[in-house]
Amino acid sequence: MSTQPPTTPTTPDRPHRVLVIGSGFGALFATKRLDAPEVQVTMVARTTHHLFQPLLYQVATGILSEGVIAPATRDVLATQHNARVLLGEVTDIDLDARVVTADTIGRVSTFEYDSLIVAAGADQSWFGNDHFAEFAPGMKTIDDALELRGRIYGAFEMAEMAAAAGEHDRVRRLLTFVVVGAGPTGVEMAGQLIEMSRRTLAKEFRHIKPSDAHVVLLDAAEQVLGSFGEDLAGKTRRSLEKLGIEVRLGAKVVDVDADGLVVEDREGRRERIEATTKVWAAGVKANPLTRTLAEQTGAPLDRAGRITPNPDMTLPGHPEVFVVGDMVGMEGLPGVAQGAIQTGRHAADQILRRLRGKETGQAFVYHDKGSMATISRFRAVMKRDRIELTGVPAWLAWLAVHLFYIIGFKTQVTTLMHWAVSFFGRSRSERTVTEQQVLGRLALEYLGEDFLRQSLRGPRDEAAESPEIPEVLRDRQR
Ligand SMILES: Cc1cc2nc3c(=O)[nH]c(=O)nc-3n(C[C@H](O)[C@H](O)[C@H](O)COP(=O)(O)OP(=O)(O)OC[C@H]3O[C@@H](n4cnc5c(N)ncnc54)[C@H](O)[C@@H]3O)c2cc1C
Repeated sequence: MSTQPPTTPTTPDRPHRVLVIGSGFGALFATKRLDAPEVQVTMVARTTHHLFQPLLYQVATGILSEGVIAPATRDVLATQHNARVLLGEVTDIDLDARVVTADTIGRVSTFEYDSLIVAAGADQSWFGNDHFAEFAPGMKTIDDALELRGRIYGAFEMAEMAAAAGEHDRVRRLLTFVVVGAGPTGVEMAGQLIEMSRRTLAKEFRHIKPSDAHVVLLDAAEQVLGSFGEDLAGKTRRSLEKLGIEVRLGAKVVDVDADGLVVEDREGRRERIEATTKVWAAGVKANPLTRTLAEQTGAPLDRAGRITPNPDMTLPGHPEVFVVGDMVGMEGLPGVAQGAIQTGRHAADQILRRLRGKETGQAFVYHDKGSMATISRFRAVMKRDRIELTGVPAWLAWLAVHLFYIIGFKTQVTTLMHWAVSFFGRSRSERTVTEQQVLGRLALEYLGEDFLRQSLRGPRDEAAESPEIPEVLRDRQR
């Protein structure tokens, strides 16, 4: 594995160097806030895009294309001349030396910094049962959404074939979709699955009736949308059931295989649900970088592995290091886009204040802008302070807020057109599905480390002689 010299020049009159890890909400809004002559920003992230995670389920169900919710980060920052964007997975942070190490497909680079903002987000959690992922993929990345799209539309295709062959049990299994996790993502996913089967696909098949599809939304908790309060939770549940979704609460998943899953109720009774397509929309765990930071600073980690910083978002003993967004576990800070945006901006403000000789160390204060979730077209729920909205008004508010936060005017127009096609018409424009989409993740796992080692070798790449696979890729394989 080759190590490149530090990529950031160090001269006495250079601007203050801020290194930002990640390209999600926290990282992007921090970087934008740092658009000031006294700083030079380097953003290092493991993807080249900024991902709008709240709309992943619309990519998975064919409403939006991946490009709409994941614009190239360097395009988004093209006019911010003090910012540069580099591809790389951060593998190490040395806080005493102020050096970050990143791996870009086998090429290792180091970056020196004066201030550091770590905004590496969270990963999917299967609550200690990572093997469930084989048959119940999560939804955190573009790859996940495209795989799910392939699995969902593929299930209808396979059901058509099975029906033509008279295999009725198989048809039932293929047309049963289970969504695990009844938070906003699970509710939105279940709503779209039922809408697809009842509207989009209703007239397209000859041997099956897509509207026979059975959608199950289950959760170990006793409420859907737990954080929205009892009233909205009850209304959402009734709304889902009215649409034809089976809602099963107090149901914990204890096993998953290719053909179904097993759930256990509060009394320990187990039941098997036959379903080919499972979507895991439950649970997050912190990014592994939190452990690296905690070991060097003594900052505590919570049960999900999130790190608790000082009230101003810096780490103990390191006023130049900030952690923001989903990787932070802090009382009153929810793991939502606004939490990442606001903490990212706070970190940037603190850096600028320090450089401008102003007082720093102000505690971060979260401003709750409310929560919302769509159930299906024209139905949503929204809560802000004591205001609670349901139905069409909540749905319109949801559309407006999401449109506002999608990056770029062109993307906003495209999104609006796709929504019009899907919500007022019946069709969906993004139904392309390929074999690689569905099989890529599992194929890489199956091929294992030797395959990765080979594919990382380029003829002229210094990494060719690398004896080791980068640990990050080993992690990804698992
Ligand atoms: C399916 C889904 C639906 C959601 N719906 C909503 C919603 O409706 N409303 C809402 O407010 N919130 C929603 N959220 C939550 C919201 O998206 C997150 O709270 C938000 O994205 C957190 O921002 P972040 O910057 O902390 O992390 P992320 O947006 O996850 O960004 C993390 C970044 O770090 C990068 N990264 C990770 N590790 C490394 C590394 N080692 N080296 C370099 N880069 C790295 C990643 O590639 C990514 O660019 C949803 C999340 C999901 C998954």
